[in-house]
Order: sequence, then C-alpha cells, then structure tokens
Amino acid sequence: MQCKTIVSDILVVGGGGAGVMSSVMAAREGATVAIAVKGKIGKSGNLMMLGGSFGVDGPSAREYCNEPEASQEYTKEALFDKLVSSAFYIGDQKLQKHFVEEGPKALKEFFQWVRDSGQKFLFNPKACRWRTSGTAFGNVLKKGLRNQQKETVIDTYEDTMITELLTCDGKVCGALGMNMYTGELIEFKAKAVILATGGYQPMPLKNTFSDMTGDGIAMALRAGAEVKDMEYLLFIPTLIEPAYAKGSILPFQMTMPNLFPLKQKATDLDGVELIYPQDSKYKTTASSSKVKKLLIHYVYGEGIYKKWDKYGNRFYFDYSDYTDDEIREAFRIIADNMEHWYKKGMYHHIDLMDLAERIIKNDKRLLVGLGNEYSMGGVVVDETFATRVPGLYAAGEVTSGVFGAFRSADGLTEMLAHGLTAGKTAGEYVKSAAQLEPEDLDEKVAVLTAPLNRSKGISPIEALNKLESICDKGFNFFRDEERLVKAYEEICSLRASLDQMAAPGGAVYNLEWMNSVIVRNLALCAEIGIYSAMQRKETRGCHVRSDYPQVNNKEYMFSYTASLKDGDINYGKSYPEAVYMPIDNNIYPNIAECISKTILEVI
Ligand SMILES: Cc1cc2nc3c(=O)[nH]c(=O)nc-3n(C[C@H](O)[C@H](O)[C@H](O)COP(=O)(O)OP(=O)(O)OC[C@H]3O[C@@H](n4cnc5c(N)ncnc54)[C@H](O)[C@@H]3O)c2cc1C
Repeated sequence: MQCKTIVSDILVVGGGGAGVMSSVMAAREGATVAIAVKGKIGKSGNLMMLGGSFGVDGPSAREYCNEPEASQEYTKEALFDKLVSSAFYIGDQKLQKHFVEEGPKALKEFFQWVRDSGQKFLFNPKACRWRTSGTAFGNVLKKGLRNQQKETVIDTYEDTMITELLTCDGKVCGALGMNMYTGELIEFKAKAVILATGGYQPMPLKNTFSDMTGDGIAMALRAGAEVKDMEYLLFIPTLIEPAYAKGSILPFQMTMPNLFPLKQKATDLDGVELIYPQDSKYKTTASSSKVKKLLIHYVYGEGIYKKWDKYGNRFYFDYSDYTDDEIREAFRIIADNMEHWYKKGMYHHIDLMDLAERIIKNDKRLLVGLGNEYSMGGVVVDETFATRVPGLYAAGEVTSGVFGAFRSADGLTEMLAHGLTAGKTAGEYVKSAAQLEPEDLDEKVAVLTAPLNRSKGISPIEALNKLESICDKGFNFFRDEERLVKAYEEICSLRASLDQMAAPGGAVYNLEWMNSVIVRNLALCAEIGIYSAMQRKETRGCHVRSDYPQVNNKEYMFSYTASLKDGDINYGKSYPEAVYMPIDNNIYPNIAECISKTILEVI
C-alpha cells in the first residue's frame, strides 16, 4: 500500500493534556509540530472521563494560580512526601520532585487557557483542588492549542492511529499511522516523537473509552525503550447497571461525603457486608482522599475475590438504611453539584434522578464492580522525559515513575507537568537533530497490512475479548499464584497466535483491522504486567495478592522492568534511589497496616 508523507520537526502522538501541552511547548521552542490522535483532540483518552479534580500544593496554588484562599498548610514538602510514600517508595524521586516543582508552572499556563476559554473551574481552598468536567477540560485544551496555532505551526491529524515508530540507526525518526476512516497509510517523518498516548487498561470493566490500549507503551518497547511497573493497575468502584452507564465512576464519587451525603453499605451479592475500616488510623483527609481508592480496593476486593467463581466482579452499594425520600434528596444534591458542567440533573450521560428511582426499585441497591481507572506502569523516562532511545520522548500516563505502585496525586497535574517539560526538551533536541530516512518503513507497513491480506484467520475483535477475559480472571484486583500462572500461559499463547490475525474486507473503516493493531499492543502490555505480578510475591500498592499479603520492603523494594530483544521480552529490576527521602525498609503484615503507617501518618 502507498503511504502519504507528512514532515515536521516533532510528531506528538495523543491529544489529551500531555499531548496538547507538549505540542504547545515544542512549538514555542520554534519546532514545527504534527499532532496525531486516535480520536479527537481534548475529547479522547482518559481525559474525557475524568472525575474532575486536580491540584497542587497550597503555596503554589496561591503563587502560580491566583488562589489567595488556598490552604498554606498543604506545602510542597507535604505533597512530595505523599507522592513518595503513596508510591510505596518505588517511585522515581527525581520525577516526583519534577511533579511538585513543575506542576504549578504547568497549571499557571493552563489557567491562562482556562481564562481564555471561559470554562468553569471551582477551587476548594482546603484541599487545594479544582473541580471541573472532562468536557470543560477538553475545551480548555483545544483553546490553548488554537491560540498557539495562530503563532506557530502545529498541524493536527485527528482519527489517526499511530501504529508503529520508525527508526534509523537506533534513533526514532517518525511513525507510521493510518486514517481510521479511510484506511489511508501515513508516514510521519519527524526528528523526534513525543508519545502522549495514555495508559493501558486490559480489563473488561474499565472507566474509559476503548482507546487506552497501551499503544504508546508497546510501540516504545518495539523501538527499544524500557518499561516498568506494569503490574500496577488502579481500580475504583464502577457502575455495572444500568447497562447504558456501565463503566462510570459515579459510585466512587458517591463515596465522597462532600458530593453525596449518604453512606453506602457495601455487600457481596449474598448480602454479606464488606466492611470498610472505621478505625481512626484509616481516616483520610482532604489531601489524602485518594488513598480511599486503595483501601476500597483492598477491603471490598477481598470480599469480591472470595466469591469470584460464583459472581465475578460484582457487588452492591446498599442504601437500605435510608428512606426513599432521603435517597432522592441525596441525588438531588449531587445533581445540583454537577449542574455547573453537565446538563441539569445529569452526570455525563447519566440522569441522576432516574438513577435514584432505579436504586429505590432495586431494593435500594446499586450493582457495581471494581473498574480499571489508571495504569501506573509505562515507559521509563528521565526528568527531561527522554527515553533511552534517541529521538523518543514520553509524557503523561504512558510513562512510569511518578506514582510507582499507587497514584494518590493527580493524573491531570502529571500530564500537564510532563507535557511542559517534554515539549521543551524535544524542542531543544530537534534544533540540532537531522531529519532521517527510516530504514524499517517497508517492514512495518508489511506487518500492519498483513491481516488485510489474509482471507482467513483469527478475528482481532475476538482476540481482544479473549484477552480481556484472561485478565479479568487472572490479573484483576486480587491476585493469587494459581490464577496468575494460568493467565500467563493463556496470554502467551494468545500473543503467539496473533500472527494469524485476519481482517479481510479492505482498508476503509475496517474495525477488525484497527483491532489487529490494538490487540497486539495490549497483549504485549498485559503479558508483561501478568509476568511481573507473578514474580512479585508480596502485596504492594495496587498489586494485591491473597497468598502474599505482606508488604515486603526487605525483598521487593524494586520495580520490574521489561524490554524487547529480538522480539523476546527481557525482564530486569530497577531499584529506587533515595535522592531526597530515605526508602522505607520495614515489613508490614498487610497493605492496610502499611497505608496507615506510611501514607496516612505521613500526610
Ligand atoms: C474515569 C476517570 C476519571 C479520572 N478522574 C481524574 C481526576 O479527577 N483527576 C485526575 O487528576 N485524574 C483523573 N483521571 C486520570 C486522568 O484522566 C489521566 O491521568 C489523564 O487523562 C492522562 O492524560 P494523558 O494526556 O497522559 O492521556 P489521555 O488523556 O488518556 O490521552 C491519550 C491520548 O492519546 C491518544 N492515543 C492513544 N493511542 C494512540 C495511537 N495509537 N495513535 C494516536 N493517538 C493515540 C488518545 O486518543 C488520547 O487522545 C481519571 C481517569 C479516568 C479514566
């Protein structure tokens, strides 16, 4: 197949916050930029789904973001300590420092765009956090990009999936992409590429669009980069019913007393209560509220796991202690709260008063599960957001290192802070880099188009369903040796079979063909994640093992890394450096104990 060619200094892959901020910053360095996005800019990836809050430390909120009321008690030091301890100490302290120092500068830039766009952001001074919606956030990004496009060259390519990085002599020099509607192949020639493709979500119950398929992580691996921490996936309470709202994180929002006044009782499907710890040592505060996600994962997860074979990933939020009117009133409050950003009475596309009536009818219960929200692992970068491959940079959720084993600070601040620096450093790099001719274009086109040319073979969509089912059963929020080993065997055999994928029917809007790219990427990420989880015979952050409940800092204070050599996965270990803060080397009997001693006591 013929390729169209697009030439720019820098190709940015991804149109969420990391991609847009990188593009703007690279353009300000004088680089010409092409930005390619699998969906729409500011309307794709995890960004669109966001729960809607993000922040920085209090003094910075005052100094950089014009918030005079911001609590001055929540200092940079406190935020840094929170990052290090919540990462269960395996995070990269230099990247964590970068988050603290550069986050406010990125937000300063971002709030300029907010003012220009007229979108509504509400600030909570005590928590030092802003609330908004994914739509508002996306509109702000589009405004920031448009403003910059008036002054410099940033060409946008929406509905364009990048399928492979192109290389010359060990350097990245562009990427191969396809227009998802027409099937046209595009060669993006660039002196540097910034990956801003978000994370990987291999579970059937997830909180995002279907585009979080680890494309950037897998492409980086194939181009020679290293990844780490792939066993850590974040889970939160997620709607299962009503079916039209499946995947929404509304149930998690409903655990927050400032948004929803009723206290849910969680039960398994037999009505047995899953007890959330009430001891004061587990009490979270405004600045540690996200730790609740991990406690919920741990305590509810254990109850669901016990009856997994019978019920799978399902449990109830039960409001039977309340009257019908109390339930209606509570939903009215959350509806009023959302009114700033969504249509009256709605949260995204969910009619909140209708949901209240459904709950009342359903014995006052809401059917939920633990859905996959975020992936902590990804491409290894340094503080300039360079990978180990010359010409390749990465920013946002596609990277690893800031959050280690658990993200308790904000992904939104992360993506903007990373984008700020990645754009600048890539912009600097291309000033002296040459435009190279890729040596692997033909080979990569052949791999991409092979399924199109096969009349019979494995269906990529069926393979993707199988992959999700494998991860659901063996790699979910509560893990054990037997299930992990089975999942590993199954994912290896699935991945080996993908060479036989077939997507006949032509290149125009061929869903099977698109999925042949996606499943190859997601399977590589999942295999590495499962293998790392199998090796990690302890519990740490979002990696919870029923057979190894201890947090064993003596034996497991490291990250599992992976890279590719001649197509095979090579595993290794990397140890955190105590650059600014000592590393904890205690052993804790279980994760709740560790959370109370090392995270909640610290914050
Ligand atoms: C339901 C939900 C709620 C959340 N709520 C919050 C919150 O309240 N606060 C917070 O701080 N964080 C929140 N997060 C996390 C936050 O949304 C992410 O950390 C953030 O969106 C990551 O930004 P990013 O730019 O790195 O990636 P994304 O926003 O995921 O963007 C990735 C981009 O890459 C594109 N892409 C992917 N693959 C390709 C490819 N092959 N070719 C071309 N383009 C590609 C996608 O289409 C998309 O444009 C939430 C996440 C979810 C799922």
